[in-house]
Amino acid sequence: ILTGRTALVTGSTSGIGLGIAQLYAEAGAKVMLNGFGKPEEIARARAEVGAAMGVAEAPYSAADLSKPAAVRQMVQEAQETLGTLDILVNNAGIQFVAPIDEFPDDKFEAIMAINFSSNWYAIKAALPGMKQRGWGRIINIASAHGLIASAEKSAYVSAKHAVVGLTKTVALEIARSHITCNAICPGFVRTPLAEAQLPPLAKAHGVSEEAALTDFLLVHQPSKRWVEVEDIARMALHLCGPGSDGFNGAAISIDGGWLAN
Ligand code: NAD
Repeated sequence: ILTGRTALVTGSTSGIGLGIAQLYAEAGAKVMLNGFGKPEEIARARAEVGAAMGVAEAPYSAADLSKPAAVRQMVQEAQETLGTLDILVNNAGIQFVAPIDEFPDDKFEAIMAINFSSNWYAIKAALPGMKQRGWGRIINIASAHGLIASAEKSAYVSAKHAVVGLTKTVALEIARSHITCNAICPGFVRTPLAEAQLPPLAKAHGVSEEAALTDFLLVHQPSKRWVEVEDIARMALHLCGPGSDGFNGAAISIDGGWLAN
């Protein structure tokens, strides 16, 4: 499906981003990775995605997405290394949970910078090349929290709502081209970011991690089971393949029924 296409997936050293990068590479794309992690984790991700591309290691940028200049440089590097940049997946994200009056300023600033502003800077940098070639795909990994709120997540919910707003605006600006811009809004997906929330939750409520999952973490997710990384990756692939030209400006829920509730 993606033979001849090039893609940059941010935050692709683990979780959802790695799943998307892997599936894109298996579908024939040349993919550049980005994200933090232990050197051996990054090396493993590069080797796994590289193997699907038929090379020893996938190209990788260590850009810190909390810094606009680093975001611009990463996009430029992707264009130079891959030759073009056809597909941009803004996926990198972090989480912090606290009531707003106890929320540390630096955590708020970091969440806004990484989860939202980096998307804005990356799209700004990648669009001119897509326009020049007359084709492009921008996929922003927002969240159910881009459409609905939960207490104690004021920074994350604000940043993800902003991502959905950005998605719609960019979609209008490129509507007459063959570039599209969509957001995917996952519920709770089985990844390190989400799973890390379980032990403290279990401890806080004095219940098992299983009960913490169904009764607390997934309290709003009617399926009472994790969304899987593959569910997100397959939608991200569909948005780049045949039958995807009419998707534009959408916020696509993949959340086990959360938003239906
Ligand atoms: P994860 O923690 O497994 O992966 C996050 C990735 O972002 C990692 O590769 C990490 O190194 C990278 N990253 C973090 N800070 C960075 C920075 N400053 N610069 C560059 N890279 C950075 O998380 P995940 O669960 O796979 O989440 C991926 C995206 O999906 C996030 O935007 C998250 O908000 C969103 N999301 C996740 C869930 C879920 O339940 N897991 C639900 C809805 C939305």
